[in-house]
Amino acid sequence: MLTPWDKDFYRPRLITYSRAYTLVPTYECFNRCRYCNFRVDPGQDQWLTLTKAEEILLSLQDRGVTEILILSGEVHPRSPRRRDWTRLLLDLGQLSLDLGFYPHTNAGPLSYEEMAALKAVNVSLGLMLEQLSADLAVHAQAPSKDPQLRLAQLIQAGELGVPFTTGLLLGIGESQAERREGLKAIARIQRRYGHIQEIILQPHSPGSRQSWEGAPFHLEELPGLIAEAREILPPETKIQIPPNLIPDDALLLDCLRAGAEDLGGIVPKDEVNPDYGHRSLDQLETLLTSQGWELRPRLPDYRPLPGYSP
Ligand code: SF4
Repeated sequence: MLTPWDKDFYRPRLITYSRAYTLVPTYECFNRCRYCNFRVDPGQDQWLTLTKAEEILLSLQDRGVTEILILSGEVHPRSPRRRDWTRLLLDLGQLSLDLGFYPHTNAGPLSYEEMAALKAVNVSLGLMLEQLSADLAVHAQAPSKDPQLRLAQLIQAGELGVPFTTGLLLGIGESQAERREGLKAIARIQRRYGHIQEIILQPHSPGSRQSWEGAPFHLEELPGLIAEAREILPPETKIQIPPNLIPDDALLLDCLRAGAEDLGGIVPKDEVNPDYGHRSLDQLETLLTSQGWELRPRLPDYRPLPGYSP
């Protein structure tokens, strides 16, 4: 947090976001996270076709969208359909690039070869660490939420030099100490490889489709956690918060004052939290300019948009 003695204190603060649209290759997922509002059972979903994806992308070309977030449920690594699913992810990335967009894929843990191939057709990739706790009841039927597997994915992305997004899902049964340990583990990997561009601090926000009846994360705790995360993480790793999950304007501003600097993808529909709509960009801009701050678009890998100075 800046104080009047910091050289940047009197400069306008810059808060970034991404002009994004989400493509979902498939909602099917072999995991069963109990807070999920996204998944359907394997075989219960028609996968997105390239023809349909092209139709959607062409309709977005004049609407200011820059990032295509390719967000998929997971096909089991040993499923005979894994190869077709990976092919679809690659084709969607290439199609997005061909049509002038900047793709970012988040599709669960990937083999080294899959990640290397996806690197070539994305500007960045993502995978939430979620939590370091190995025994969370909400993950009892979600083998790919194994925290060690996820840490290994962050390291693999570092070895491949992929700009990467990760983060914590807050309030799913973890302790405060476990949150801190998760942040420290991410910080250690970042210090070694330098590829983790941002971490998302995502409060558990119950939705209408989930089976778990756990309470929402206490949002009042978020500014304190952000300040703590800012102390733990290297300065180049930005902290992102999802503004649609923080509906109170004063609390959202407190989160930004505490050290969050990015609002993530502002999308027409948050596919992970479909019950929580976003404020409009005009509303966000008005809120931030009331503090003398600037809301500025960025690309998925944090390069500024053409026409905006860094
Ligand atoms: S949260 Fe993600 S990994 Fe878990 S069941 Fe839902 S889609 Fe699958």
